Amino acid sequence: MRHSILAHIRAVQHLVTPPPSVTKCESLSFALNLQMRETAPMLAPKRLLTALALILIGSTTVQAADEVVVYSSRIDELIKPVFDAYTKKTGVQVKFITDKEAPLMQRIKAEGENATADLLLTVDAGNLWQAEQMGILQPFTSAVIDKNIPLQYRSSAHTWTGLSLRARTIAYSTDRVKPGELTTYEALADKQWEGRLCLRTAKKVYNQSLTATLIETHGAARTEEIVKGWVNNLSTDVFSDDIAVLEAINAGQCDVGIVNTYYYGRLHKQKPDLAVKLFWPNQGDRGVHVNLSGIGLTRHAPHPEAAKALVEWMTTPEAQKIFADVNQEFPANPAVPPSAEVASWGKFVADTLPVEVAGKRQAEAIRLMDRAGWN
Ligand code: FE
Repeated sequence: MRHSILAHIRAVQHLVTPPPSVTKCESLSFALNLQMRETAPMLAPKRLLTALALILIGSTTVQAADEVVVYSSRIDELIKPVFDAYTKKTGVQVKFITDKEAPLMQRIKAEGENATADLLLTVDAGNLWQAEQMGILQPFTSAVIDKNIPLQYRSSAHTWTGLSLRARTIAYSTDRVKPGELTTYEALADKQWEGRLCLRTAKKVYNQSLTATLIETHGAARTEEIVKGWVNNLSTDVFSDDIAVLEAINAGQCDVGIVNTYYYGRLHKQKPDLAVKLFWPNQGDRGVHVNLSGIGLTRHAPHPEAAKALVEWMTTPEAQKIFADVNQEFPANPAVPPSAEVASWGKFVADTLPVEVAGKRQAEAIRLMDRAGWN
């Protein structure tokens, strides 16, 4: 209790302000902090103590285990259906705010022991690994998660687990490329593709993770050759997103590109006559690069048990179906089939490297991409 009082006094002193993107689901703690900011300076000491007592009574509600607070870099539409289903099933309220992953991670770090968030939900093993490195996550073990999610899609330090999978694969023009001409990511560096390749910027973590896994497989020297080959084969400047890469292939600006599968699903839904298809490379060797969306338990989570229960449920078939289907992803639980649309893209062999390699080699990958001239 003493710790709790001190924490709240510190909160009064530091006055945390929520970012502009806080949703209507923002946690009560922010409301409390805002209330404190507005009232504290005007109160006499005795009234201030009364106010603090009231806040502490309020805070016992905040600390109750019938809610979980999630900081999410995934947008509302992709997470609300699954949280709503959980609340309906268990009565546990899931409060969330959404923002880009970097500010969310900084905010968890800044909140420290006065944590509001129980869980950090984000995409790409590179980002989850970063969060782990920042020390803002804590290990947790669960027989349910061990059973539901393959080891390669979890942190070896047990701080996060994958929830849904996406392949980062080759997209090609059905007008100008025969699938038989395609083989591997590496082969996109060949002369055959000169002036025919479109890529997204190297600043995006998805490409950093792909490059990191290439380094793990081939070593830095060979990977640099491959990446230089890709850069030499570009038909145009790099794009800011995967949809633009797909649109460029469809429009004839280039013939092949590398994209995440769900972007293909998204564009194909809008444009059923899209003259672009997905190809699964490296089926004769290590398989397709697969990455994930995942969730980690924050170091100072106010409701660790309730948070763990939510994560466990999110790995079950019931939740996996909702969570994967809403963004046309593959469930991370291999017992759960993908949607009919996702299944229609065909089966493939996935790389078996633990995805956290993407984080471990991220800095090396960024330097290599820079040397190779990938902007
Ligand atoms: Fe994405």
